[in-house]
Amino acid sequence: MSRKEELVLPADKIAVIEEFFPGDGAYALNGDIRSARVGYKIIDSVLRKISVIHPHGKPFIPKTGMIVLAVVNTVKEDIAFVDVLADKDGKLFSGKYSGVVHLSQASHTYIKNLEEAFKPGDIIIAKILSHKTPPLQLSTKHPTLGVVAAACSKCGELLVRKDSTTLVCPRCGNIEKRKLASNYMIKTRIV
Ligand SMILES: [Zn+2]
Repeated sequence: MSRKEELVLPADKIAVIEEFFPGDGAYALNGDIRSARVGYKIIDSVLRKISVIHPHGKPFIPKTGMIVLAVVNTVKEDIAFVDVLADKDGKLFSGKYSGVVHLSQASHTYIKNLEEAFKPGDIIIAKILSHKTPPLQLSTKHPTLGVVAAACSKCGELLVRKDSTTLVCPRCGNIEKRKLASNYMIKTRIV
């Protein structure tokens, strides 16, 4: 995702529908995408989405080195696709940013398949390795990084931590593996 410095006004033509989908603060009309507000254009070239954000102060944009919160979208054997939403303190970014975690950047211990580390819907905390070209390149290698909240894939209940790599469902007893952050938010009460 990248930001164009040019300020746009409501009803300004900002793109055509062949190029982008309209995101926040944008709408499609007669084949054009127009701005619904005064603000700056934000382009997500991965999701091919153009948005307009309010110009209040500086837009808050994820940068290399930041620790961020993201939600997992899709997981393949060697790559996970996420939406980066906020910094580690929960301060929301000006828009939704696409990010990826490659298998080699997921853990300091050996993982054969990323599907053993993340599942869609997991909330992860990750470090931005690079923001130069989208999507954001992320790492969850450090012990403090990884999954901080996950739901049971059988019943949807929030999973609780059992040990350093294992979660247990308090409702149905299902056991699941993740690359957990050391501060995974819920610790088991079952001793
Ligand atoms: Zn369950």
